[in-house]
Amino acid sequence: MNRKFQFILLFGALLLPVVLEAQQAASLAELKQKAAADIDGMQTFTQQMVDQIFSFSELGFQEFETSRYITGILEKNGFQVQRGVAGIPTAWVATYGTGKPVIAYITDLDCIPRASQKPGVAYHDPIVAGAPGHGEGHNSGMAVNVTAALVLKKLMAEHHLAGTIKIFPGVAEELLGSKAFYVRAGLFKDVDIVLGSHVESEFSTAYGTGNGEWSGLVSVQYFFHGKAAHAASAPWEGRSALDAVELMDTGWDFRREHIRPAQRSHRVIINGGDQPNVVPSEAAVWYYFRELDYKHIKELYDLGNTIADSAAKMTGTTVDHKLVGSAWPPFYNKVIAEAQQKNIESVGMPKWSEADQTLAKALQKEIGAKAEGLKEKVEPLVEPVKNPTGGGSDDVGDISWNVPMVYMMYPANIPNLPGHSWPNAVAMATPIAHKGSTAGAKVQALTALDFLLQPQLVQAAWDYFRNVQTKDVHYETFLGPEDKPAIEMNKEKMEKFVPELKKFYYDPARYKTYLEQLGIQYPTVKPKS
Ligand SMILES: [Zn+2]
Repeated sequence: MNRKFQFILLFGALLLPVVLEAQQAASLAELKQKAAADIDGMQTFTQQMVDQIFSFSELGFQEFETSRYITGILEKNGFQVQRGVAGIPTAWVATYGTGKPVIAYITDLDCIPRASQKPGVAYHDPIVAGAPGHGEGHNSGMAVNVTAALVLKKLMAEHHLAGTIKIFPGVAEELLGSKAFYVRAGLFKDVDIVLGSHVESEFSTAYGTGNGEWSGLVSVQYFFHGKAAHAASAPWEGRSALDAVELMDTGWDFRREHIRPAQRSHRVIINGGDQPNVVPSEAAVWYYFRELDYKHIKELYDLGNTIADSAAKMTGTTVDHKLVGSAWPPFYNKVIAEAQQKNIESVGMPKWSEADQTLAKALQKEIGAKAEGLKEKVEPLVEPVKNPTGGGSDDVGDISWNVPMVYMMYPANIPNLPGHSWPNAVAMATPIAHKGSTAGAKVQALTALDFLLQPQLVQAAWDYFRNVQTKDVHYETFLGPEDKPAIEMNKEKMEKFVPELKKFYYDPARYKTYLEQLGIQYPTVKPKS
């Protein structure tokens, strides 16, 4: 080999990676541009999904219509669907592509009891009185993730990109009822990156424990068993299960003062007996025990069991308990969050119309909140706070301790609302939700492209997961070996309302939008007094 040739070879070898990287960077930018344009072209599809799922209004574990509808779309588009995963009839996994990396999308799809509400109407006006409704906005998440996945699929096929996309439904999120079972069933074993999405009024992402307003929890039902008797003629023959429930509740409330303030616990009595002249032989109470970490949640759970046993002893009844939900406090991946933040900034907030702002302000005024309308700017990356306060929970927490994960908040709802009630449903089948979901879909697609095309980024996310996040904390499930998904929950409630709700299912073949189908003027606000 002569020296000149040797030099050319060496020079070429040095240059090649530079050239390749430049090419790849260019094509990543191009692909991102194409993805965003394609998602803009799918606005009608996204809107129809948002509206359709809104109209189904299904409670946790009863998302049968919703799941049938979404898996139908995915199968029609070449995804393979596995149904009934983790022992949950309404759960499924949809898969497209082959090989690494495996990128998973997840988002919730269940709704809230008694939150039925006409969309676009800035005061309480249910579609079906007393019925469940999307008073959290979970109807929009699948529109976000499926729109992104379909566009991604097309780009992967056209550009021969290796990798796999998976889509998971957040079944029964409102009950914190599914993800620990998904993890136990090994559904995330081969997954490299999880991109979760959740409805919000802002556009943001976080890493670590984020704003600190998240708790983990166990959700437990206590069933007391006593002895029935005539409550007037022979009460001494009876043993009241309701007395036990009341004593447990009183006991918990006294003890609450001596538990560290980070706890949050709340309950509803799900069975208080039948009628006053019968000593209640059966009664039940349902507790959520929330805390900031596994150890403290476990302590609350143990304490709850002790107090329940004590109440049973005091009343001569017996008690057994059933875990119906659990969630680790979430922890999000810094590498993915930083990549995602750039995409949030490049996509930017939706352009709100005057009608959107009018609806938002009128609703805020109606419920006595600050009437500042919709947000106009994306949020900076949310970094972990020093002193987390705790707050709500989400069972994606369990996933976040098994795979590098982030949870994008996309701007599809109105700020300053109370959550888990009808006001949070008002915007959820209007242009506010439609535009916010399109924006969210773009970020989901762009972030997936970042990881599909840059294997070093996948590696970096795992390095953070292994060397920072799980260095000292190891995931342990709250589930006991006998615990099963509470798939019978909400069955009666849904059976009661489905015949009424069915009359209002959205029909996209006949109406452009759900607002049009319901004959709602957008926005409908109270006249100024
Ligand atoms: Zn939610």
